[in-house]
Amino acid sequence: MAIKVLKDLCRGCKMCIKACPFQAIDMDGKIAVINEKCTACGACISACPFKAIEKTVDEDVVDLSAYKHIWVYAEQRHGELMGVARELLGEGHRLSREISDDTQVCAVLVGNKIDHLAKECYEYGADKVYLLEDEKLENFTTDGYTKVIVDAINEYKPEIVIYGATHIGRDLAPRVAARLNTGLTADCTKLDVKVSSYIDYCNKNTTLDTSSLDANDPDTGLKQTRPAFGGNLMATIICPKTRPQMSTVRPGVMSKRERNPQATGELVKVDVKVADSDIRTKIINIVKEAKERVSLTDAEIICSGGRGLGAPEGFELIKKFADKVDGVVGSSRACVDNGWIDHSHQVGQTGTTVKPRIYFACGISGAIQHLAGMQSSDIIVAINKDPDAPIFSVADYGIVGDLYKVIPQIIEEWDNAEALFEASQK
Ligand code: FAD
Ligand code: SF4
Ligand code: SF4
Repeated sequence: MAIKVLKDLCRGCKMCIKACPFQAIDMDGKIAVINEKCTACGACISACPFKAIEKTVDEDVVDLSAYKHIWVYAEQRHGELMGVARELLGEGHRLSREISDDTQVCAVLVGNKIDHLAKECYEYGADKVYLLEDEKLENFTTDGYTKVIVDAINEYKPEIVIYGATHIGRDLAPRVAARLNTGLTADCTKLDVKVSSYIDYCNKNTTLDTSSLDANDPDTGLKQTRPAFGGNLMATIICPKTRPQMSTVRPGVMSKRERNPQATGELVKVDVKVADSDIRTKIINIVKEAKERVSLTDAEIICSGGRGLGAPEGFELIKKFADKVDGVVGSSRACVDNGWIDHSHQVGQTGTTVKPRIYFACGISGAIQHLAGMQSSDIIVAINKDPDAPIFSVADYGIVGDLYKVIPQIIEEWDNAEALFEASQK
């Protein structure tokens, strides 16, 4: 895509300059000229009263073979790698080995003074780290990070780029995709390259008819699966004509590899070019939210409450339960919508995806959107007074009963078990 000024129509009125958010238009005498800062956003087209600006679609066929290797945006905050980056390095490692023996998984680290994170990236599966450092990248800005990542992708041409679907990833990935004129699939729950792996997954997890697919097909294009239509079906999306293929994946969906402290890799220091004028926002102050941090993604045990609690006070019992079993409080969306608990506790399709060792679902019916966020937990224990509640279809252990009677009994049994254990240690 390119933006073009039709010289014979331009009257030099400069309206387009005012409309352009990127300072991407200069005047050459009385004719507007588009410079290299243009992002093809199109704002100037409607601003021109003389229809002197047009967008042209580049019909060039992309040479797919020029693109190689998998990149993972290794998101860091304040010099610490985010958990989702570790998970995606593991997933990238798996995919790279399925594509070919010489396909590498590469971490992309963006920030300032963050080279110490390269080792951690190798330990979680990266073969190579691209380091994009600059003082102007100290804190995340959409403009700054987009600019340097787009430049790096244009230079090194990765075949696949994966981002965590964090607040930052969700902001960054669509910008990068738009600048590169490529596709992006958001919130993927499954990534595959081999047709055979994809068929295997569909046969186990969906009702999709895979009989027309050839398991011997060598196609290694990325098959990006995500819930669609409110989670009622799974859509698999491909990006056959442009590169890189790009996806976001929520924290907690993919498994990280076991850390290998001996792992090493190659470090590529990218020559970053970012000017103040590339960044339209200015960070004046960073205010950290004072509320209690809920780390659902890292939790080993989650005790979640649903509408069956009947009132917000019900979460006092859930909190007591969670404290007892050393767990974290989760919630269904119904309680969040009712204002009983903060959204940061919500588990499910529009909340957090979790994979704890034990998930207690208390007074939760088991709507498909809730299951989408917790059904890969190792052990699911459901407490519900309705024996036909759908949650029981995914539960490993089901307790039919009133949660206000059942949970205090579990707490009591836990206390008894602890007392017995302590006595046995004396
Ligand atoms: P209910 O469905 O009302 O279930 C309450 C359950 O409690 C019932 O099964 C009842 O039998 C039981 N119960 C009642 N009293 C007791 C008691 N005393 N003891 C034991 N059991 C009792 N939901 C999510 O959770 N997460 C999401 O991310 C999410 N995203 C969504 C996205 C979209 C686009 C849409 C359309 C919906 C989404 N939802 C999500 C909402 C979802 O469809 C359900 O409405 C919601 O999960 C229901 O919450 P619940 O199970 O707590 O409530
Ligand atoms: Fe030329 Fe249109 Fe820009 Fe005016 S708004 S300077 S006519 S391109
Ligand atoms: Fe500026 Fe957007 Fe027009 Fe490019 S398309 S010149 S960035 S307004």
